[in-house]
Amino acid sequence: MYSMNVKKDKIKEECGIFGGFCTQGNIAPYIKCGLLKLQHRGQEAAGICCGNEQQKVVKNNGLVNFAIDNSALKNLDGKFGIGHVRYSTFGDDRKENIQPLKITYMGEDVSLAHNGNVSQAKKIREKFERIGEVFLSSSDSEVILKRLIFSLKKKPSLWKFEEVAQCLDNNFSLGAYCILLFLPNRIMAYRDSFGYRPLMFAHCNEGFFVASEDVAFYGLNVRKIIEIMPAQGIEITKDNYEIKTFSKAKNVCQCVFEQIYFSSPVSNIFSQNVYSTRIKLGEILYESEDKDFIADVAIPVMDSGLGCAIGYSRASKIPFDLGLIRNNWMERSFIQPQQEKRSLNVRQKFIPIKSIIEGKRIVLIDDSLVRGTTSSEIIKMLRSCGAKEVHMRSVSPRIINTCIWGVDIPTRKELISYDKSDEQIALQIGADSVKFLPQEKLREVFLGDVWCKKCFKEDENEIFLP
Ligand code: 5GP
Ligand code: MG
Repeated sequence: MYSMNVKKDKIKEECGIFGGFCTQGNIAPYIKCGLLKLQHRGQEAAGICCGNEQQKVVKNNGLVNFAIDNSALKNLDGKFGIGHVRYSTFGDDRKENIQPLKITYMGEDVSLAHNGNVSQAKKIREKFERIGEVFLSSSDSEVILKRLIFSLKKKPSLWKFEEVAQCLDNNFSLGAYCILLFLPNRIMAYRDSFGYRPLMFAHCNEGFFVASEDVAFYGLNVRKIIEIMPAQGIEITKDNYEIKTFSKAKNVCQCVFEQIYFSSPVSNIFSQNVYSTRIKLGEILYESEDKDFIADVAIPVMDSGLGCAIGYSRASKIPFDLGLIRNNWMERSFIQPQQEKRSLNVRQKFIPIKSIIEGKRIVLIDDSLVRGTTSSEIIKMLRSCGAKEVHMRSVSPRIINTCIWGVDIPTRKELISYDKSDEQIALQIGADSVKFLPQEKLREVFLGDVWCKKCFKEDENEIFLP
């Protein structure tokens, strides 16, 4: 099965990163705080690496509070550091694969954390293996570090920002990555030249920080927040920071799912507030309803469907209500290996409020339908609570193509929209009707030619395949 192989090969890594330098005390608690705010980006494992000259890592499977408990935090000294939360994968969960990945080379420590995937990693790994190199993990991070060491062949303290950038650009130019590199008394961060994934910088009273999303800076005394643009990076030392452009931005290709599904509503991703995007998507989704469409209540599929349902309700004047409570103690785990487990997960994640549902014509709004697992399980719940009608709406257009860049979209055949009409989908998930946002409408929300929408189009991935 494609997705199994993909997981084993670690082609997909969709994660959260946080790092920097702090002026007061040790940086470890700041990193933990930042990672907690990025927890939605990854719940499989978490890690922090801190120090000045020398580095120490704590990493474990599980949520941030579990993986990095307070006693572990006390053992982490130093003013520089990087941290990582890892998105759920079901393949290889060896501890060696948890990031940050730290190694020692020529007597100096260097560590790396990254979000995204570098599509050439597999080939580079094979090349290295043919010349007798051994890898301790199956993650891309080790391949990147090894590639850097091979190119630079000098102490990490002597690595220059530009030469690291050049090496990344030469070897991983087809990648979708944001990389944090921790060298003695220095942090360097890079965003690939397509800019698939977001990277933000904050100058705060407490220090200089980089993160996947600006929500991670909330609570710090922020002076200035700057988006690191595609093909840009930043070098942070104890006295200073410098944002640098290392190459020409290519066809900028920001992932629309960062806005639709992945990021926190608080964040401003690619200069656009995520919550506002979701409201707007909900509003324009209503524009394509038939004139005589009516419903009694608009119910969101939490969490990412929330803003969308609010927007839909505002535009339609159909009253908004919760109807389904999301159990916050359940993880976001849409990527379970078996269908039965995925269905069970949805049943455990959502709890219906019967009084809102009974006898009602419901319009149910979610950010996306991928396999259709979430919607079909929820519709069963709504029906068993006495819903009169259930109309399923998705603010994402039909997803008909796979994604190799990190948002986890399975094989085409598993995609519910791939070969089915709206009516057939409705039948499969048990809805009275189904509607998706028309693809051309996306332009009203995602302006310009800087967005990756390959998953909504046929045959677009080929040219990018590793
Ligand atoms: P389905 O249950 O239809 O297979 O997947 C859609 C649901 O999974 C939505 O509620 C969406 O919020 C959630 N989801 C979790 N992870 C992902 C992901 O990586 N991509 C997308 N598009 N949706 C995801
Ligand atoms: Mg969802």
